[in-house]
Amino acid sequence: ESDLAEGARDVLRMLDQHGHQAYMVGGCVRDTILGRPIHDIDIATSAEPDQVCEMFERVIPTGLQHGTVTVVTKYGNYEVTTFRREGGYVDNRRPESVEFITDVTEDLRRRDFTMNAMAVDADGTLLDPFAGQVDLRAYRVRTVGKADERFSEDALRMLRAIRFASVLQMRIAKGTWRALVKLRPGLAPVAMERVREELWKLTAGPDPARGWAFVVRSGILAYAKEPLLFLAHPWSARWQSALAVLGQMETPELRFALLALVHGASAEEAQAVCLALRLSGAQQDGILPVLRAHAQLAAAAQAASAAASPAQGAASAGEAALRRAFAQAVLAYGETAVRGALACRQAMLGVSEGKQPAAALQAHIQPESVDSQLQAHIQPEATDAQQQAADELQQSYAPPQSDCSLLRMAPQWLEAMPARQLSDLAIKGRDILAASDRPAGPWIRAILERVWLEVAIGALPNERDALMNEATKGEDTA
Ligand code: ATP
Ligand code: MG
Repeated sequence: ESDLAEGARDVLRMLDQHGHQAYMVGGCVRDTILGRPIHDIDIATSAEPDQVCEMFERVIPTGLQHGTVTVVTKYGNYEVTTFRREGGYVDNRRPESVEFITDVTEDLRRRDFTMNAMAVDADGTLLDPFAGQVDLRAYRVRTVGKADERFSEDALRMLRAIRFASVLQMRIAKGTWRALVKLRPGLAPVAMERVREELWKLTAGPDPARGWAFVVRSGILAYAKEPLLFLAHPWSARWQSALAVLGQMETPELRFALLALVHGASAEEAQAVCLALRLSGAQQDGILPVLRAHAQLAAAAQAASAAASPAQGAASAGEAALRRAFAQAVLAYGETAVRGALACRQAMLGVSEGKQPAAALQAHIQPESVDSQLQAHIQPEATDAQQQAADELQQSYAPPQSDCSLLRMAPQWLEAMPARQLSDLAIKGRDILAASDRPAGPWIRAILERVWLEVAIGALPNERDALMNEATKGEDTA
């Protein structure tokens, strides 16, 4: 029994002693039943926010107008929210008004999915008026009440349905899915930050392929407030190859990069999508340099393989040029980005070489992620124009092939690199400056980079004397 749960019970008892109803609600109940770790406990009560404030020593008025007060205890913080009904919804977004009520069932009724609409009191008694447990056991995401109405009230719930189905590895109930596909244009007014939040969570989760299969098959992203370019393209074989390998990428950033690469999107296009989704600087830094490094490596690999054929002797010349280009990419984008680019490329090669045949993939995605009876319903959803765009993309799709034998050496090259960045060099800028009578300037860095490159390709040992010798080589002729 965790401290977090113990503290929650203290809060519930306190509310109860003051004559109010109080329950643990939402995600913590769902995750407890699923046997998943719980990260926070939300509490719902009939007490009004000012009453809650008076009752506890330490409170933070988190969102008084929505009825939420954070109660601070030695076991943790708890969001305590007054039972409420939500008034008219504007623009498929947020409720116009909230009304405090005293009936817990009414409070559970306003919640999005049956599995999120359960409550537990201090004694551990479960309230489950919408049969959330039945849906949980069936691994099924289902709206509380009519899906059409619930998605019309708040369009974000459509993406939440997909996110929960992805992260909890569930299906989406048929009626809920139908309503989602029908009402997807409702996404238009939803803030891009909220769209990002859901997409990021599903991409970072244990089964990103499932989440993206739902996203793409629903066609919902075509209706986002701002254009999401390749992310919003209709279902195509490209998406299948992306989905097959998405889970192989370790971070959500690399998974996003891979989605861009599979669509042949440029770094600029990917950047436009990052901006539209309001991705943070750190998130973008995990994506864009990978794409830039990948573009540079792909171009170099192509040039090298062109140089390598047909004469056999030319192969090593191509390889040497590629090794140099590879080192340049490490210098320009950093080791992490280059490793990411190689991982993405490797993943895509796996697909194009048929290591993951489309049929096997199909078997993996369809029965588990999407109700198979829905297939007929889902496929025709793309408009003619969308489908045409997808077909054109399909035709221009050229999976990496020719360069693979050459770039396959890249991980070894990287391991063999005695210096992975300029600061790893056995000499510093000040050593170069001391050996010269020129004033300090950008020339120093240019020399460091030249020397580093020789070390990185294994042409020069990372030793002071050898490096100084190389560094001062062109000096007198300069
Ligand atoms: P997690 O925090 O693990 O993602 P959660 O279920 O706690 O899952 P929250 O977004 O923290 O999700 O919301 C808490 C609860 O509030 C939900 O369980 C649900 O009952 C309700 N809820 C949240 N967002 C909505 C919404 N858009 N419409 C209706 N109910 C919602
Ligand atoms: Mg939560």
